[in-house]
Amino acid sequence: MLAYTYVGHENFQLMEKQKPVLLDDRDAIVKVTLASICTSDLHIKHGSVPRAVPGITVGHEMVGVVEQIGAKVTTVKPGDRVAVNVETFCGTCFFCAHGWVNNCTDPNGGWALGCRMDGGQAEYVRVPYADQGLDKIPDSVSDMQALLVGDVLATGYWAAQISEIHREDTVLIIGAGPTGLCTLQCVRLHQPKRILVCDRDESRLAFVREHYPDVLTTGPEGGKEFVLANSDHGGADVVLEVAGNEESFRMAWDCARPNAIVTVVALYDGPQILPLPEMYGKNLIFKTGGVDGCHGKEILQLIAQGKLDTTALITHTYPLKQIAQAYELFEQKQDGVIKVAVSLA
Ligand SMILES: [Zn+2]
Ligand SMILES: [Zn+2]
Repeated sequence: MLAYTYVGHENFQLMEKQKPVLLDDRDAIVKVTLASICTSDLHIKHGSVPRAVPGITVGHEMVGVVEQIGAKVTTVKPGDRVAVNVETFCGTCFFCAHGWVNNCTDPNGGWALGCRMDGGQAEYVRVPYADQGLDKIPDSVSDMQALLVGDVLATGYWAAQISEIHREDTVLIIGAGPTGLCTLQCVRLHQPKRILVCDRDESRLAFVREHYPDVLTTGPEGGKEFVLANSDHGGADVVLEVAGNEESFRMAWDCARPNAIVTVVALYDGPQILPLPEMYGKNLIFKTGGVDGCHGKEILQLIAQGKLDTTALITHTYPLKQIAQAYELFEQKQDGVIKVAVSLA
């Protein structure tokens, strides 16, 4: 089968590989129908994910059809359409029992697919702990609608959930890339009084205004003044930082009102500074990533009910044979791209 492979630094190649086989009673083999490209894939390419193993097939956001299951798999069967979870988790350890599946203590726990084991930018993928790693897609939900459920939409859902959003709140979301836009949709489920979105890219802000006319947008310049002018208590009641740079990190705590919750969803290239003397007295509550991706079923139900819909974010689709071009477009942010799907149909 064809598999897009992390050969080495700055080197991904579409290669012929053996089709995966079941290695454990809890595994499933999934025939991939749609995969997508994530910014984390680019991080692997550029060497900023040291635990990524050269030779693995990349891709950690995909949907497909179950082809084969191990003897102990109970929740899915061959022929089921499924969304694949970005995280591998056992479902039984201390962390899994608390829903903190990102910290599952299994040797393969956490982000393994497309990083430490073969992922889904390929014709087939082996999914360990299939009862935890796969969610059956409802009949009324298309593969395209379900494509982001396992990773960026799971992240937005988790981020909104842990941010303790109330109806009277002004919520600031920093970053309107794919994860920021998924976060925005999930924050809306909590119906806060006001949502503000900040991004440096004017075309992303235009996308937000077009799809969510009630959301207020600002660039980072003058962003703090904008937040102060559009919040009731001297800053945002809740801040979700999804942009992941020095400026956005500073903005996150600086635009928060005293006693606010600041949820840091973003992944940074380097350490960030918390100037505690400057912040003294703000009494902020920080919550930090990454996602506990164990809510796929709820998310798929919300999609089936029409309460979440990320199809507008998937701006481009390429066949697997042209995946290198898809990466190029995604990385160079060409042609108004937000998310790219890779089709294996
Ligand atoms: Zn990702
Ligand atoms: Zn576990």
